[in-house]
Amino acid sequence: MTAEIVSVGTELLLGQITDTHAPLMARILAECGIGCTRRATIGDNMDRLVGTLKGAIERADVVVTIGGLGPTLDDLTRDGIAMALGDEMEEVPEVAEKLRQFFASRNIRMAESTLRQAQKPTSATLVDNPNGTAPGLICQKNGKVVIALPGPKGEFDPMAQGPVRQFLEQLQGGQVIHSRVLRIIGMGESHVEERVRDLMDGENPTVAPYAQTAECHLRVTARAENREAADLLIDPVVDEIRSRLGNHLYGFNETTIEAATLDLLVAKGETVAVAESMTGGALGARITSVPGSSKAFKGGVIAYTVSAKESVLGVPSEIIAAHGPVSEEVAKAMAEAVRDRLGATYGVSITGNAGPTADVDGKPVGLTYIGVAGPNGTTVEQAQYRGLREDIQRRATQTALAQLRWKLL
Ligand code: ATP
Ligand code: MG
Repeated sequence: MTAEIVSVGTELLLGQITDTHAPLMARILAECGIGCTRRATIGDNMDRLVGTLKGAIERADVVVTIGGLGPTLDDLTRDGIAMALGDEMEEVPEVAEKLRQFFASRNIRMAESTLRQAQKPTSATLVDNPNGTAPGLICQKNGKVVIALPGPKGEFDPMAQGPVRQFLEQLQGGQVIHSRVLRIIGMGESHVEERVRDLMDGENPTVAPYAQTAECHLRVTARAENREAADLLIDPVVDEIRSRLGNHLYGFNETTIEAATLDLLVAKGETVAVAESMTGGALGARITSVPGSSKAFKGGVIAYTVSAKESVLGVPSEIIAAHGPVSEEVAKAMAEAVRDRLGATYGVSITGNAGPTADVDGKPVGLTYIGVAGPNGTTVEQAQYRGLREDIQRRATQTALAQLRWKLL
């Protein structure tokens, strides 16, 4: 069974927004055992939309459209699908009534165009949209399936992951492709590969490495009748990998290094504070992106200039004068100062040169010092990163989180 994805929207073609939905849809299709053979992006133009849809319907068993389900005149997907399938449009009275109530209950006048969202191609059944006004569509005609999903992320994600995934699993009739991602830190991709090389020859499950910024992922994928059966195939391979990689394996699937590290802190009842120079708050932002971070995150200081390092953190000016702001000594002083001033179990510091030009004190681009001060003293790691400014900053926060995690283990 094959599928094609058609993303609809002129703003996608103009490069104003990035198509993040199509990759998610492709993953869902793969996990349901349906091979995605083509992806297209098409502007808000009826002729081209209908042409693209007709071609996709002819080639593939399943066509998924993304976007263009809203009420305005540039939202063409509903009508485009009807034309491509040779369907008429019909109004669904319950949806029209729901739209009227939605606007009445909010005391807003309903534009006439809103009722377009109550229309559907005759072969469509509706997919409930609890997060918006436009329902999704599943059209089944002549052995082909066309699924239409709304563009806004808050509507697209739950619909794709929920009822649409369920529908596709049933449609595919039994076989699912299910993956677990193993997240590994502090070990390069080639070293990871060396240790699991033999497991990568397996066919069910398969094991494949993916390099990420300053971490590495292994995707273990199994094909089985259902998710539970796939998990039974995946579990022993994951156990084997864990025994070979030890603590380098820090989490699964969506678990980030910041979440894994915070979990450890919370479990131990300990706290952290950060002092950042080169990363300008990015480390604090990563930590606070995790829900519940207030249980373990005390706060942070962005001490960017020399004077900020001296006045806010109290780093002695002699140390900065003697070694420069990008130095092991300053990283140590920053980590210890923020630990002390914010009363945290651990203080983590980052100072470095993210480029693109060499620093005032002549330190090379990418040179970074990461300090971790804790109950058993302070360690500073020196790193020489390569890449763009944002890569260097990302690597620095990644290493800082990894360093803190090692201390906690
Ligand atoms: P609306 O009712 O808001 O008009 P819609 O179903 O018509 O919803 P679009 O108008 O195509 O959807 O897109 C609405 C917004 O959804 C876009 O501005 C964009 O922010 C987001 N969006 C649409 N398509 C995509 C996509 N493929 N990837 C990521 N975001 C998208
Ligand atoms: Mg729209």
